[in-house]
Amino acid sequence: MSEDIVARLRKGLPACWLKTGLRAAPKAKDPASEAINVASARWQRFAPVLAQACNIPSWDGVVRSPLRRYPRSPDWPQSLYVKCDHALPITGSVKARGGVYEVLCLAERIAAGNGLLNAGDGRYLSLLEEPARKALGSWTVVTASTGNLGFSVGVMARALGLKAEIHMSMDAKQWKKDRLRQIGACVVEHATDYTGTLAAARTGKPGERRHFIDDEASLDLFMGYTCGGMELASQLKDLDIEISERQPLFVYLPCGVGGAPGGITYALRAAFGPAVVCIFVEPVASACMLLALDKGRGEPQSVYDYGLDNRTDADGLAVSRASGLVLQKVGEDIDAVVALPDAMMRAAVRRVWAEAGLRLELSAAAGFAAIEPLHDVLKQTRATQLNPIWRRFDSGLHVVWTTGGSMLPEEEFVHLLA
Ligand SMILES: *Cc1c(COP(=O)(O)O)cnc(C)c1O
Repeated sequence: MSEDIVARLRKGLPACWLKTGLRAAPKAKDPASEAINVASARWQRFAPVLAQACNIPSWDGVVRSPLRRYPRSPDWPQSLYVKCDHALPITGSVKARGGVYEVLCLAERIAAGNGLLNAGDGRYLSLLEEPARKALGSWTVVTASTGNLGFSVGVMARALGLKAEIHMSMDAKQWKKDRLRQIGACVVEHATDYTGTLAAARTGKPGERRHFIDDEASLDLFMGYTCGGMELASQLKDLDIEISERQPLFVYLPCGVGGAPGGITYALRAAFGPAVVCIFVEPVASACMLLALDKGRGEPQSVYDYGLDNRTDADGLAVSRASGLVLQKVGEDIDAVVALPDAMMRAAVRRVWAEAGLRLELSAAAGFAAIEPLHDVLKQTRATQLNPIWRRFDSGLHVVWTTGGSMLPEEEFVHLLA
C-alpha cells in the first residue's frame, strides 16, 4: 500500500493516507486548553484595536467566520457544513488568524517593553496613539510566504504602523504583491519555491528590531489558528449539534506547512477528543504532510526526494516540507491525509461557486475535492483494517474549511472558473 502511494503521487493521481492503530484519546485537562485560552484572551484584548486600525465598516474587531450549511448535493454527505474562513475579515484567508495573531503578540511585547502597556490594563487603544506608533514604527516584521501569509502579516503590520519586509516565493500571485506595495510594505521577490524563500528571508541582514515570523517553527502563529477550532466548537453548540463518537465530526483542512490545519486540529481535539476526525488535504505535487506521516514516521520529508516537483496552482499549499513543530504538536492527531491533482480542486471551485455561490481560491476548494476520493478509499478498505470511527462516515457531520478567496480580484476568479 505505501509504495503505491508514492507511485500514485508521481502519476498525479489522488491518494489517501489513513492513520492506523489507536486514534488519539481525549487529553483530560491537558495544557492545550490553557494555551488556547491565553490566545483567545489576547484576541479579545485586541478587538477594539483591530476595529479601529483596520477600517472595515461596522466591524467589531473580532476575527471570526460564519459556519454555513451546504445545499444538498449529489455524492456529498447529507450533513455538510462550510467553515467560511475565505470570508475572514482583514485579509480574506485563514492567515488572518495565524499571521495577524503573531503581529499582535509582537506589538504587545514592543509596547509593553516601552512601558506603554501593562498587559491586562484594558488600555489597548493606546497602541494607536503617537508614543506607541513611534515605538512600533521602529520595528520591522519579516516573513516568507507563498502569498497569503505575507499578505496577512504585511496588512496587519502596516495597520499598526510596523514596517513590513515580505519575501515572496515564485508561487505568489501578482495581486498580493501589488496590494502589499500599495500599503507601504517592502516586497522581495524570489525565483525559488517556498523553502528556498524561507532560507533567504532567514538570512536577511541581521540587525536590531527585526522580528522574523517563521511559518515552519513559530508557536505564536500556530496558537493564532487554534481560535478557529474553538470558534467551530462554539458554533456547533449554538446550533445544538452534539458531536460524539456515534455522530463524529469530520473536518477537511487544506494543508501547506501544516500550521493552519494543525492549530485548528489542536483545538478541535481539545474540544471533542476522539469524536473529531481531522483530514488534511494537499496537492499531489506538494504532499509533504502525507510523506512525513507515511514515510517519515512523523519527521518532515522533502517532496523532491520522492520525485515530486511541488508545482501546483494552489499557491497557499505549494510547500515542499511540512513543519516539524506542527508534526510534533499534532502529528498523532491527524487521522487522514488526502492528496489531490489541481484539476480536482479546480472542478471543486466551479462546482461550489455554481451550487452555493462561494468564491474560493484553488487552495480553499481542496476540502470539497477530497470528499469523494476519501469515501472511495474507505469503501475499498476492509472493515477490519479501518478504525471503527470511519464506519460513521455516512451519518457523521462533515465540515469543509474554506481557507481563502473572498478578496481574489474579479479577473483572477474568472480565470479560475474558465
Ligand atoms: C496557508 C494556507 C493554507 C494552509 O496553511 P498552512 O499553515 O501552510 O498549512 C491553506 N489554504 C490557504 C488559502 C492558505 O493560504
